Amino acid sequence: MELPRIRPTRAEVDLGALVRNVRALRSVAPGVALLAMVKADAYGHGAALIARALETEGVEMLGVALVEEGLALRQAGVGTDILVLGGAYEGAWEAMVQVGLCPAVFREDHLEALAAAARKLGTVPRAHLKVDTGMARLGAQPQEVPALLARARVLQVDVQGVMSHFANADLADAGVTQEQLKMFRAVLAQVDAAGFRPRWRHLANSAAMVALPAAREGESLNLVRPGLALYGISPAPWIVPPQPLEPVLSWKTAVVHLKTVPPGTAVSYGGTWTAQRPTRIATLPVGYADGYPRRLSNRGQVLVRGQRAPLVGRVCMDLCMVDVTDVAGAALGDEVVLLGRQGSEQVGAVELAGWLETIPYEVLCGVGARVPRVAVRTTAGAVPRPVP
Ligand SMILES: *Cc1c(COP(=O)(O)O)cnc(C)c1O
Repeated sequence: MELPRIRPTRAEVDLGALVRNVRALRSVAPGVALLAMVKADAYGHGAALIARALETEGVEMLGVALVEEGLALRQAGVGTDILVLGGAYEGAWEAMVQVGLCPAVFREDHLEALAAAARKLGTVPRAHLKVDTGMARLGAQPQEVPALLARARVLQVDVQGVMSHFANADLADAGVTQEQLKMFRAVLAQVDAAGFRPRWRHLANSAAMVALPAAREGESLNLVRPGLALYGISPAPWIVPPQPLEPVLSWKTAVVHLKTVPPGTAVSYGGTWTAQRPTRIATLPVGYADGYPRRLSNRGQVLVRGQRAPLVGRVCMDLCMVDVTDVAGAALGDEVVLLGRQGSEQVGAVELAGWLETIPYEVLCGVGARVPRVAVRTTAGAVPRPVP
């Protein structure tokens, strides 16, 4: 049984914006297939919710980091092909094959475990071969590729894809990225020479997909793997798709207590902020246990009645305080936006990341499991665009 939702704190997930982002990205790379990244609970948006919407929109493939994430999507009824990018750990191969997840493989022991699992279950083993072209994270070294392919042939593994991953695609200096692309093309030539014809060849994340057409020309490179851009955030300020993207997630709460305190009043644990004037303090039911970082204490801002209000005092586990003295008419029950738009103001994931000295990826993934995800569906134009 689902518990009743009582606290006003929620993350609204705009499936209309998601679909418009998919279409905007499709128009960036027409004729190229889309593997939508839904790892890490779809970057904090709710994987099942997002995957179902993407499936309805007809994305060709979904990408997860963990076998567990793929299993959860199958349990949620998602039928689209799912690529497990992190590879499998011991014991996961059968579970993966059983529900039709496709692993990224990059070692002989992967091929062997996969083939054994598939044989046991009476299916054809299939995989994408992952090659390290400069990220030095996961993947076979290019010189290992011929031996891996030979092993795949013996074990009758259907190599459906060959992939790599960029380390620096979001940097303005494309030097490393070009080197990786060149190396990947050399790997593809090796694959070709070995007589393999994998259907999918891919290495573009959001940044490369938008900024580097050579990384998804549609002929030899025919699949892209956007994540952040799907959720409406550009990976870097200089990466600007022709059609604007719309943030999908808005994090909202409401004023649950409001009072005026006299000058000299210290607010929250440790008294790190003291009122200098008669101050209207609004208390919000959200804290670091919800993933609203304590580092925002005396640093972050929220939106109330379309105006910015600063966080004052330390963010607590379940609550935090904002100064609404300058927000005319601020009242108990007012909607408060932590992340997203209100009126003509907006706090984006990039701005929030700036306060925290991190990247928008971490902000989105950080929205806590305690925050319910609520699907909404705006229509195009209903959301005012940011003023440039
Ligand atoms: C996360 C990830 C992506 C997507 O990256 P974005 O920058 O969010 O577009 C693509 N490929 C791999 C292997 C990843 O781990």
